[in-house]
Amino acid sequence: MATENEVTPVEAPAETPAPAETPKTEAAPAEIPAASTETEVAPEDVKVEEEPAKEKKMTKRKSLMQSFGITNLFSTSKPEETPEPEPIEEKGDIKNTEDFTYEVYETLPEFTPEHKSLMSKLLTPELFEQLKDLKTEKGYTLSNAIQTGVKTPHLGVGITAGDEESWTMFKDIMYPVIKGWHGFDPETQDHKSDLDASKLNFSDEQAAVFDKYVKSTRIRAARNVSGYALPAGTLAEDRAKVQELLCQAFDAFEGELKGKYYPLEGMSEEDKKFLLENGFLFQIPKQTNLLWHAGAARDWPKNRGIFHNDAKTALCWVNEEDHCRIISMQNGGNVKEVFARFCQISAALAKAAEENNTQLMVSEKLGFLGTCPSNLGTGLRGSVMIVLEKLNEDVIFLEAVCEKFDLQPRGSAGEHSAAEGGKWDISNKQRIGYTEVELVQKMIDGITYIIAIEEKLKEGVSKEDITAMLENPEDLLAKPEEEKDVVSDPQTEGSCCVIV
Ligand code: ADP
Ligand code: MG
Repeated sequence: MATENEVTPVEAPAETPAPAETPKTEAAPAEIPAASTETEVAPEDVKVEEEPAKEKKMTKRKSLMQSFGITNLFSTSKPEETPEPEPIEEKGDIKNTEDFTYEVYETLPEFTPEHKSLMSKLLTPELFEQLKDLKTEKGYTLSNAIQTGVKTPHLGVGITAGDEESWTMFKDIMYPVIKGWHGFDPETQDHKSDLDASKLNFSDEQAAVFDKYVKSTRIRAARNVSGYALPAGTLAEDRAKVQELLCQAFDAFEGELKGKYYPLEGMSEEDKKFLLENGFLFQIPKQTNLLWHAGAARDWPKNRGIFHNDAKTALCWVNEEDHCRIISMQNGGNVKEVFARFCQISAALAKAAEENNTQLMVSEKLGFLGTCPSNLGTGLRGSVMIVLEKLNEDVIFLEAVCEKFDLQPRGSAGEHSAAEGGKWDISNKQRIGYTEVELVQKMIDGITYIIAIEEKLKEGVSKEDITAMLENPEDLLAKPEEEKDVVSDPQTEGSCCVIV
């Protein structure tokens, strides 16, 4: 699966042994096997000699070898006891597979103007030097973390975590990236979680208005299991265990959540067609997305799969970018129901993790942890598919309105494009620094204003007037005049005045 422009498996390990393996690789004398150190000693030393003379020579030889920094090969050992040199392949990353090679960067990679990521902008030579020789217990290095950002220049974040420990071990680069991406400063701020759906304010009146405009609602987030490496840094064994644990959790799902798991490997054409038609099947990673060069697509499609409940309103993706992506979705605009189900799935996974004597990957500071810094905290994206015919006529205006309410619009043909049939995917922009309840509430409130704007545009109100109202958004929700109490004004017979 690897292409020509990727580093061939032999290049990286041969030229640049992994720093954290230094003790091993330095002593792995591929060209100078241990036995050959004997030849460094002058040939006359090898003659059979009287004991005292031999001892004297040995001391001389020892000090000579020590002066070359060789201390562990002193020749009291017989040649046949000398450890075998390690095979060259073992110098490479043990995570390497037939379809993927991890690179080792000895010096800070050269970033070009094509490199857009925060990582490429924030990783200074000093930081690189400071972090380059570190390795997590699961075997993840800085080189591993930045590979996707180095090889896929258009990415915005450009760094991945390979396990839970990556978030602390590489925090000196992770934190600035998080701050740059989210505007949340982990050095000074803490993240809080709140998965209590009953706290949402969503009136019946709002629900009725949403149903007029919203085609479907979806809330998703990443969930990972503590103790297992993340997809970018995992070995096949951990990946398999994660799938096993998640399948146990799916088996224990009750009531509305009950459903079926479809492993990607060996999936029947019929199931594939069914999942594709419903938009449930996740994409096979392309070489241009984050997953590929992060190493998260190794051994594809082994131990990947999709769960959905019978009503197809609860979905879980297994071992794609994260251990699990949980998705709650349904037709229409009942955000409260969708969020309540989302919280149920999250709680069911947390319970399953606990039953396996572990927990979901979560940190007090950063909230839920996963592969990409963009999905930390709540990792939650709550979106509505909403038809906005009028706003669709001026995408820039729609974007400005969304910005005002901390929402992100996604059109059907990429950034700054209009949406087919005026159908937009609009979601919360932030992921961290707000609780789940707060983010979903922000989405509900923002969409309420956006629908009001759409209705004003339909009534013929100008964009300038709407922009002025945005100063005080409550004005957008003020009822039309005919719905307000009116009384006759005795002074101006025949006209009326409005009592607000
Ligand atoms: P994410 O990264 O949050 O999963 P994507 O933009 O990659 O989001 O979209 C994943 C899929 O989910 C796409 O097919 C998208 O059209 C679909 N989707 C997003 N929001 C909704 C929604 N509210 N209703 C139905 N489908 C949605
Ligand atoms: Mg996506």
